[in-house]
Amino acid sequence: MKRVLVTGGSGFLGSFLCEKLLEQGNEVICVDNFYTGAKRNIYHLLDDSRFEMIRHDVTFPLYVECDEIYNLACPASPIHYQRDPVQTVKTCVHGAINMLGLAKRLNAGILQASTSEVYGDPAVHPQEESYWGNVNPIGIRSCYDEGKRCAETLFNCYRMQCGLRTKLIRIFNTYGPRMHPNDGRVVSNFILQALQGKDITIYGDGSQTRSFCYRDDLIDGMMRMMATPDEVAGPINIGNPEEFTILQLAETIIELTDSKSEIVRRPLPADDPRQRRPDIARARELLRWQPSTPLREGLSRTIAYFDELLRSDRAFCMG
Ligand code: NAD
Ligand code: UDP
Ligand code: UDP
Repeated sequence: MKRVLVTGGSGFLGSFLCEKLLEQGNEVICVDNFYTGAKRNIYHLLDDSRFEMIRHDVTFPLYVECDEIYNLACPASPIHYQRDPVQTVKTCVHGAINMLGLAKRLNAGILQASTSEVYGDPAVHPQEESYWGNVNPIGIRSCYDEGKRCAETLFNCYRMQCGLRTKLIRIFNTYGPRMHPNDGRVVSNFILQALQGKDITIYGDGSQTRSFCYRDDLIDGMMRMMATPDEVAGPINIGNPEEFTILQLAETIIELTDSKSEIVRRPLPADDPRQRRPDIARARELLRWQPSTPLREGLSRTIAYFDELLRSDRAFCMG
């Protein structure tokens, strides 16, 4: 049994990770400032004596004792990370420094939830880890993209300079139950719009692509990465290599919800990547991992979650 620290532990991915770590018999310290996380995501874990919740902002130093650290703290959705770009950079950079300092003091293994956004609007397709990316350093997405790139640099520097056991994974678009209803990301937007009979808002012409990974597959890959030998540092792409256009996603969700919603067009946000698909050869080889949940199956489970949420807490979803 280990004591594991999960920053961002009350968020969409973090809360599911906490659950899985507890299931494996570990103690879990969940650290979160509730910027985008929700108490409802971890409410069911609070009775477990092996689970501890600390309200804390990772941009400030943190002194706890643990064996492993998963650093997930950071808003992931464009509307959230763009609301306070300075705080987003601080969370990525100061947060990484503090967690790396903590890992150094404790000699703990530390994993960083990096992102496919480090590839920016990629000129290479599909994206291999060796690709350095195409990122605008001063655009509306750069607080997140460059923040995450700097965090990768910090992880690498602490590894080279201090011998830290660091792990980098680059997460591609992930969806599933417990996504925030007002998250603004495409899967939650389309599902909520379809379930409520509202217009489905496609930004641009809908020909841009993304590759959608189901939450459970992603967390499995993340935990496999943490369990690798010390010499495996990454970065390793974790995502689903099946690529869809945003229009295809909208049509699939309309079909699965049997919705009467109409598709409408909205302007494409600046710097919106044209295409996105992970090359997962490294994950296959080093983690023996590949996603197993097809899009339609994962979407059906996510639709059931939002349907239930709408019925039980309509005011929250509308707010
Ligand atoms: P999320 O917004 O649901 O979770 C992020 C959590 O971090 C929230 O609980 C939030 O309150 C917390 N947080 C934010 N700033 C903090 C701070 N300064 N101090 C402490 N806590 C803070 O997002 P998610 O989808 O669960 O993403 C988790 C991680 O995975 C993020 O680091 C994100 O960048 C990364 N990631 C996610 C995706 C995806 O598609 N979901 C893709 C690529 C990378
Ligand atoms: N830190 C922390 N918890 C710890 C140890 C360090 O939050 O248990 C923070 C502390 O704020 C420090 C940062 O991590 O500034 C980086 O630590 P490091 O040891 O690399 O550098 P230094 O202490 O020299 O700044
Ligand atoms: N998108 C869309 N309608 C929405 C939300 C998003 O067409 O209501 C598009 C967005 O422009 C992007 C893609 O869907 O091309 C994925 O957006 P998301 O915010 O989910 O993730 P990211 O752009 O960070 O990959």
